Amino acid sequence: MNTALVTGGSRGIGRATSLLLAQQGYQVAVNYRQNAAAAEDVVALIRQQGGKAFTVQADIADERQVVAMFEQIDRQSGVFTALVNNAGILFQQARVEQLTAERINRVFATNVTGSFLCCREAVKRMGHHYGGQGGAIVNVSSAASRLGAPGEYVDYAASKGAMDTLTKGLSLEVAAQGIRVNGVRPGLIYTEMHADGGEPGRVDRVAPAIPMQRGGQPEEIARAILWLLSDEASYITGTFIDAAGGR
Ligand code: NAP
Repeated sequence: MNTALVTGGSRGIGRATSLLLAQQGYQVAVNYRQNAAAAEDVVALIRQQGGKAFTVQADIADERQVVAMFEQIDRQSGVFTALVNNAGILFQQARVEQLTAERINRVFATNVTGSFLCCREAVKRMGHHYGGQGGAIVNVSSAASRLGAPGEYVDYAASKGAMDTLTKGLSLEVAAQGIRVNGVRPGLIYTEMHADGGEPGRVDRVAPAIPMQRGGQPEEIARAILWLLSDEASYITGTFIDAAGGR
């Protein structure tokens, strides 16, 4: 059985992705940082539907915790073939002149360093040069990497720009090792993340300015992620799907 890791799999886009991956026959490692109950709910739902899943707690910004998480995955049966770098954070809407080094570093530690560390551990398990069977990585970036998120969170947008460059560079490093690396850039999606930015109703406020006139659902992003991971996308690497309603 193929095993997939979804970081931040306990809610929002990660939750929807975990459920879809399990329906496609993957054993899913559902990562979370603090909300164990939410992650257990996802695993329980997958099992109810006849799928296989387990939770893995780790703060992806912490190198030792990332290494321990992958060791935990190694101890399960199954072949590790898929990584979804989905966990990401943002903070209260603010202008650049209000940002502190502490905040910027926290955003980058999770969104950028965390994604790098998970890629590193995944490549060591999937790469032909390590004796692996190959596999695929999808980095969940954001339309913000193109738009910059002015007046809201340029730090977050810049971290997503770094993720896009990671996607490009790593895809070229491991293309000959049987690993494909792609990105999905969601637009405004109905999840709890916007409350972390201080505006729970942000999607509905901005929706009229989206060409498709609506926000997106987590499942609409999950389907793009799933497709990039699948054999349907077997000749596709180092590229991005903008899933943002035309934004
Ligand atoms: P969300 O609802 O806020 O969920 C975030 C998930 O990430 C939670 O499961 C959380 O676990 C986990 N997480 C946060 N920090 C972590 C860490 N350091 N280590 C491990 N897990 C961590 O997020 P979302 O809206 O679904 O977004 C998912 C991804 O899509 C993010 O990368 C985000 O930037 C991107 N995105 C979202 C939107 C949008 O409109 N929602 C748009 C563009 C891009 P705990 O709850 O346990 O902390």
